[in-house]
Amino acid sequence: MRILVTDGMDKTALETLRAKGHEVVEQFYAPEELGEAIRDFDVVVVRSATKVRANHIDAAKGSRLKLIIRGGVGVDNIDVAYAEANGIAVKNTPRASSNSVAELALAHMLSCARFVSIAGHTMREGKWEKKAYGKGVELGGKTLGVIGYGRIGQALGRMAQGLGMNVVAYDIFHVEGIECETMHYVTMDELLAQSDFISLHTPAIDGKPLINRENIAKMKDGVIFVNTSRGNNVDEEALLEGLNSGKIRGAGLDVYAEEPAKNEALLNHPNVSCTPHIGAATKEAQKRIGQEIVSIIESM
Ligand code: NAD
Repeated sequence: MRILVTDGMDKTALETLRAKGHEVVEQFYAPEELGEAIRDFDVVVVRSATKVRANHIDAAKGSRLKLIIRGGVGVDNIDVAYAEANGIAVKNTPRASSNSVAELALAHMLSCARFVSIAGHTMREGKWEKKAYGKGVELGGKTLGVIGYGRIGQALGRMAQGLGMNVVAYDIFHVEGIECETMHYVTMDELLAQSDFISLHTPAIDGKPLINRENIAKMKDGVIFVNTSRGNNVDEEALLEGLNSGKIRGAGLDVYAEEPAKNEALLNHPNVSCTPHIGAATKEAQKRIGQEIVSIIESM
């Protein structure tokens, strides 16, 4: 098969595909060139940089293209329904990066609790602000609210329980037998009212952002909020207001309404710990993503 890899892929997986006799081309295409380019391939593998939209699918209609694989979880960079309606299957690698994203969410919780990001930043400016950043809080004994208790949410829940946290989760779907002394499903309002830390792990939800002014008002004063899901799930202006008023003590962000992120007021806020959408960017996750891509192609 001819396989196009547009946004990079684990080297071992590339070698495996070539060893199995597939022709693999690694090449990023600008949006205006992508439609024409994908016509010549059976499979296109993307991460998040390449956006496969309806116009690209239109250009690829009637060509040899059969499958688009998103190396990662969120498929919001692909017009999935349109591709499938036109006979092009879309697959992702949903489990490969769960642990990495959960670990990054935990890192942001710790960073906000102990001012890790801003304290390091000010030290590099020659400051020694022991007093300002000597007001940390512990995670142990606190309540973590996880919104969206799926693969990543549950992985974070288990880590938090290991640190002595109490976990409450809000999800539209409840997994049977998962509740225990330190993990309970609650309503969204209960979660907002009870949590010292809140971490968001739903898919991208269309319409009004889930974390908006109304829901922020229902949170505990001094809450620490983390988002590694999708930027459009959060009203960034409402989040900034919450940070400025002190309602929100700190925010850990890996995803943004616009990417690359441009909301300077938010990014420069001293109580924001931010990373440039690197939740799945670990050696281990990329290796597992590569292995899943190979098995998807092998099962064609
Ligand atoms: P998942 O499908 O396993 O879990 C999502 C959970 O959200 C499900 O249990 C689902 O029932 C629940 N849910 C859906 N709509 C909801 C709603 N309106 N209210 C409450 N719960 C709702 O997905 P996952 O693999 O855990 O991924 C979660 C998120 O993480 C996705 O947004 C994904 O795009 C994102 N993600 C980010 C990165 C990153 O690099 N930062 C990497 C991978 C995944």
